[in-house]
Amino acid sequence: MQDLFEFFNARTESMVTLLENLVRHESPSKDKVLVDRLSDYLHDILIELGADVTIIPREKVGNIRLVQWNKTSKGTPILILAHLDTVWPAGTLADDMPLKREENRLFGPGVLDMKAGVAIAVEAIRGLRDRRQMPDRPIWLLLTTDEETGSAYSRELIVELAQQCGLILVMEPAADNGGLKTSRKGISEYTVKAKGIASHAGLAPEEGVNAIVELAHQTLKIHSLNNLRQGTSVSVTQVSGGITNNIIPPEAECYVDVRFFYKHEAERVETAIKALTPVLPGSSLEITGGIDRLPMERSEQVVTAFQQARILAEKLGFSLDEAAVGGVSDGNLTAGAGATTLDGLGAQGAGAHALHEHILIRSLPRKAALLAAILQAWKFEG
Ligand SMILES: [Zn+2]
Repeated sequence: MQDLFEFFNARTESMVTLLENLVRHESPSKDKVLVDRLSDYLHDILIELGADVTIIPREKVGNIRLVQWNKTSKGTPILILAHLDTVWPAGTLADDMPLKREENRLFGPGVLDMKAGVAIAVEAIRGLRDRRQMPDRPIWLLLTTDEETGSAYSRELIVELAQQCGLILVMEPAADNGGLKTSRKGISEYTVKAKGIASHAGLAPEEGVNAIVELAHQTLKIHSLNNLRQGTSVSVTQVSGGITNNIIPPEAECYVDVRFFYKHEAERVETAIKALTPVLPGSSLEITGGIDRLPMERSEQVVTAFQQARILAEKLGFSLDEAAVGGVSDGNLTAGAGATTLDGLGAQGAGAHALHEHILIRSLPRKAALLAAILQAWKFEG
């Protein structure tokens, strides 16, 4: 298989060219026109690569594209999952983050998260086709358009497709060590509102029930739910309340951000937060929110899949590590739906969502070769 790696190494410059073109098409999540322009650009490339492309219209965000090769082949499909949107507003390319190349690094908005992932997926397929090594199995590529804003308009579709596939490959940036992400934290979000009774702070303080004091009690209870050794963080991240400086506040509320590696931890915190009871007589609580994304747990299924990927990398001539990370991706959705998920198949680099966002160019052929090898040689367990 080593020649596969050499093959993609020799194609590094054309991969960089494609990636530069993707970055030049700025695609902020909330700008449908721009995101659609990028997916139209890709559409033609994918048709040339023999794909069957279905446009799934979306009104508020860019249209989603489901790209399929070997649509009629029997066998379990592999789903490559990528998003076209970035966190960067239009104009970033001209103002703060020009596309620039410095030795082994390529800088630009969205270059790492995750336009390099998109380029790698396209080039892996192109390489397999040019080598006449396209495997006879259904290969699906889903290009979504709202990952950076929480996947509200794509999550149902992602889950529905993932449940039909034997392996999900998420093209998010690689871990810092260049490896795959085999575990991601999940996230829950809550708002806790305390209600008291307003009264004049000077004339009749005893008639009031101070919602801020009530919320302070609750804040400490919430904070005590932290279990950092298990990787569970429970953070009160915002607080507001009160009307003006001489009224006992009738209302106060806080925002709670919860991250966890384990579903049972998410459930422990959920139960505790929903069971909070008021401390001050006369006050009441209103609790909203819940589990937003389950974690991508490093299950036995994932360990076995990672081992298979590592063996393929060794055959290609390089080593492959794995890592657990805090941030969420659409991989949380597919893993949460029970589908075997490997994440971090995109480029290696640094500065996702930061001004110094860049990729290491030499990781492009490496990851394209790995993806091609997985598509070609993957064996489903059981
Ligand atoms: Zn991303």
